[in-house]
Amino acid sequence: TKAEKLELINKRIRAFPDFPVKGILFRDICPILKDPKALTAVIDLFEEHVRQTCPQIELIVGLDARGFLFGPLLAQRLGIGFVLVRKKGKLPGPTVSVSYALEYGKAEAEIQEDAVSPGQKVLIVDDLLATGGTLGAACDLMKKQQAEVVGCLVVIEMTELKGVERLKPYPVFSLVHF
Ligand code: AMP
Repeated sequence: TKAEKLELINKRIRAFPDFPVKGILFRDICPILKDPKALTAVIDLFEEHVRQTCPQIELIVGLDARGFLFGPLLAQRLGIGFVLVRKKGKLPGPTVSVSYALEYGKAEAEIQEDAVSPGQKVLIVDDLLATGGTLGAACDLMKKQQAEVVGCLVVIEMTELKGVERLKPYPVFSLVHF
């Protein structure tokens, strides 16, 4: 059942205080990947959500780096493609980039110019939503390329940081809340 899957996922998230800097409680999803049942549960729940709410989706966009762990598995389930949003300087060929602020530090996100087509319906995937800066940057990139962001999917949502509000009007679906 859905409740059992969520419990399995919850059990496989660890918290590390003061990482990578003091004051941040880091939520580590590595144990999910180490447990095939928990990983399957994540993809099952993502797939179920997509099939129920936005079956018209054409492409999954994954965020550097932990969005790369879940995104391609979901894309395969749905029978659609996967593209990467990377940190600046990692992608060859013509690229488009935006800079943004993080919960800790700042960064620049980049995609290949031909990664998405105008009008394409995309869903953006990452491991965790904190302030929404990272997913927001990815949404901006999609907008620049005239793709249509249908929503964002994350395993974990840090509710008190109000990322969901920051990402409005794009809907966010999350599995676990802290
Ligand atoms: P934000 O842009 O503030 O929403 O931060 C989200 C991005 O930073 C995601 O790619 C996360 O992997 C990472 N991140 C931010 N805060 C945490 C946290 N407390 N634990 C683990 N990862 C985090």
